[in-house]
Amino acid sequence: MAFFDTLGKTISEKGKEATQKAKVLAETMQLKGQISTEENNIQLAYQEIGKLAYDSQLQAEAEAYSEWFDKVREAKKRIRELEEKINEVEGIRICRNCGAKIPRDAAFCNQCGTKSEQSVPEPVEGGESEVSAVRLPEEKKCPACGEPIEEDSRFCTACGAEIAEED
Ligand SMILES: [Zn+2]
Ligand SMILES: [Zn+2]
Repeated sequence: MAFFDTLGKTISEKGKEATQKAKVLAETMQLKGQISTEENNIQLAYQEIGKLAYDSQLQAEAEAYSEWFDKVREAKKRIRELEEKINEVEGIRICRNCGAKIPRDAAFCNQCGTKSEQSVPEPVEGGESEVSAVRLPEEKKCPACGEPIEEDSRFCTACGAEIAEED
């Protein structure tokens, strides 16, 4: 019975999806905790910088500050790395133009159409035949290249074409 087979599969896939979501959430929480720690380090360093500035009445040699400047720089770098890790875990990427969260493999931002700077995987050669994956009929497709697109996309993530509003 194809219908019940499909139904069973959908349910088990939903379960898998939920487990995956919980995993992503747990991992994200942990990384965000690490970011908080780094942000605390920055606050502490700022305090020290302030104290030094006060003590020296803003006339200290740059040397006096460098240790704390370094600490701020290092913590900021680690925060960037941790944020990138969160994006990786969540399977997203931040558009460098508009800051929208977009799928990691998107070649174009679905909000502003900016082309991704990361290299897009080349289409597999020779395997071009009939990749007619069964798609839901109501799925939105790019009018230019036919790739499926998300409901709220303003631009195709595959070719960057602007999607006309439909209503
Ligand atoms: Zn964008
Ligand atoms: Zn397209």
